[in-house]
Amino acid sequence: MIPLAKPVMGPREEELVLEVLRSGRLSLGPMLPRFEEAFAARLGVAHASAVSSGTAGLHLALRAAGVKEGDEVVTSPFSFVASANAPLFEGARPVFADIDPRTLNLDPAAARAAVTDRTAAVLPVHVFGQPAAVPAFEAFGLPIVEDACEALGAVHADGTPVGASGHPAVFAFYANKQLATGEGGMLVTADAETKERVDSERNQGRAPNMDWLDHDRLGFNYRLSDLQCALGVAQLERLDAMLADRAKVAGWYRDALSGVEGLELPYEDDGTRGWFVYVVQLPRDADRDATVRALAERGVQSKPYFPAIHLFAFYRERFGHREGEFPVCEDVAARSIALPFFPALGEGAVAQVAEALRGVLESRHGGGAAGAS
Ligand SMILES: *Cc1c(COP(=O)(O)O)cnc(C)c1O
Repeated sequence: MIPLAKPVMGPREEELVLEVLRSGRLSLGPMLPRFEEAFAARLGVAHASAVSSGTAGLHLALRAAGVKEGDEVVTSPFSFVASANAPLFEGARPVFADIDPRTLNLDPAAARAAVTDRTAAVLPVHVFGQPAAVPAFEAFGLPIVEDACEALGAVHADGTPVGASGHPAVFAFYANKQLATGEGGMLVTADAETKERVDSERNQGRAPNMDWLDHDRLGFNYRLSDLQCALGVAQLERLDAMLADRAKVAGWYRDALSGVEGLELPYEDDGTRGWFVYVVQLPRDADRDATVRALAERGVQSKPYFPAIHLFAFYRERFGHREGEFPVCEDVAARSIALPFFPALGEGAVAQVAEALRGVLESRHGGGAAGAS
């Protein structure tokens, strides 16, 4: 089976993890600032705070942006569920707006229309590593928190790296991301006060001087261990090579899949995407779930990606969401599948995936496994 994702790990990761093990400093040791400083330098931002996950980073970023109970946060329904859940941790409500059918990112005009006098922040997601329209959201005059969890390596049209616009932005390091530490995240910001607050809140609200007894605010345990930071330092050293490999794999897919009738390939503008996944939209008359099953029978893992968040049972029940609210998102979500995509995926494997998908889609007209009904 060709898997969906696979991290790149080598001797350098082993060496740095061993260094931490032998040092005895397993958490809050020197590897933490080493990872943070290297990450900030790489992005060209003033501050970076490592946290236990991207979700934890989004939670702390929203707190730092002042989001509180009863507030609304305008965000995308086409994302990983964490970006919509994060406002709920503070008793705020995620208010969805539809997406742009090309970039699949939150549509600025729709987002603007969703703003009310209770809107406390806008939370754009750089979905699949495609830069969101941050300058358009800045024009709203509201705090912005960027979900850059899928966008390491992405660059805005003006050359600014995604995450380096100055707003709190959050990256994630789960095993399938561009940079993997198993679990983990990084909150970057231009603001020193935000950095200080996040560093305290990830560590039980402890005072910056680490005085055991002085907890001057509510906090959490959102720390990232030095073992994970060691992986992060090693992964950063090879990040450019990994990103280049992902872009190369995307190019092979583009060549192998263009010409498949009715299949929509990822939007490609001027090369600003930080390739995270390879998601295609199936022809409208193809059965998405049957296609996923038929691909599995041919040795190719794939999955629906993403389902629309507002149509999840929890969101329907809690907020009364229903079909038809965000037609672009719903149409895209019903047709999108992620194909195997990782730096070490070879050209032969890409050809095999493309052949399998082509075969499955062609067989739908001849009563094959992926038939429309
Ligand atoms: C991965 C991801 C997150 C964070 O995930 P964690 O598993 O908590 O690190 C948040 N938003 C998006 C869009 C993601 O893809």
